Amino acid sequence: MTKIAIAIHGGAGTLVRGMMTAEKETAYRRALSEARDAGYALLRSGKSALDAVEGAVRVLEDSPLFNAGKGSVFTADGTHEMDASIMCGDTREAGAVALIRGIANPVSLARDVMQHSHHVFLAGEGAMQFARKMGYTLEDEAYFYDDLRFRQWQDIKDTDGTQLDHAPKDHKFGTVGAVALDLSGNIAAATSTGGMTNKRYGRIGDSPVIGAGTYADNATCAVSCTGSGEYFIRGVAAYDVAAIMRYTGATLEIAATRVIQDHLIHLQGDGGLIAIDRLGNIAMPFNTEGMYRAMKDSSGYEMVGIYGT
Ligand code: ASP
Repeated sequence: MTKIAIAIHGGAGTLVRGMMTAEKETAYRRALSEARDAGYALLRSGKSALDAVEGAVRVLEDSPLFNAGKGSVFTADGTHEMDASIMCGDTREAGAVALIRGIANPVSLARDVMQHSHHVFLAGEGAMQFARKMGYTLEDEAYFYDDLRFRQWQDIKDTDGTQLDHAPKDHKFGTVGAVALDLSGNIAAATSTGGMTNKRYGRIGDSPVIGAGTYADNATCAVSCTGSGEYFIRGVAAYDVAAIMRYTGATLEIAATRVIQDHLIHLQGDGGLIAIDRLGNIAMPFNTEGMYRAMKDSSGYEMVGIYGT
């Protein structure tokens, strides 16, 4: 049988053992397994890598545990503005949305941009017009309300500060993403986020930026990133992994590790990524204490992880 494989992440950050209750840790592990298994089931039934990454990310967006979709952080205005992107490694078609509101599953809107518009990246009111044209129903603010996120915002709301959803005082982390290899040998990647708490001025991170937070090319790899978005944009992190492979012949593991442990560290960027190549090799490097992550492949290997070793 041809190999199939999927990896997902739920954000990298200050994740140290003993930081959360056993119940909370169990809830995270369960949510990660569910998302991974949902994506894997799609691959096993013959669906495409695109379907699998969209499906896995939707499960994570529906969980209040992660900073995407339902669990998105608060902006300076007390609202929720989300960013997402998706890319197909076979055709290198891509779709992305930024600064959207009220959409339960931003990753699906990103896919609709890819498949049903002539564009790659739609933002703000224009993206919302497109969503309405595509028949999306809008959730009200109550759908996205979460107590802990609210308190996190209250702490810094009257300051100029923004807070990465990775800050030590907060125990919830969480941009989400997925990469997958399907039965036809195609790879894909998707990423979805609520961005940073108290963000203003239309701030957009790396997650919806093709090449920065998400990238996929069958010739090299599919990548989804999480971390301090400004640095991932400046380092063109997701494409950097593909470029290292393409121009130096490096393996996925070497390229992904170099980007996170070397190139990003030089920029003082913290975070991690998940990546897959056409052989189903998976790399999940991070330069933070931990990263919510899970993977599964058709050789029978599967794992769920939170902390570093
Ligand atoms: N990369 C995301 C951003 O900067 C944040 C995250 O990964 O949690 O918007």
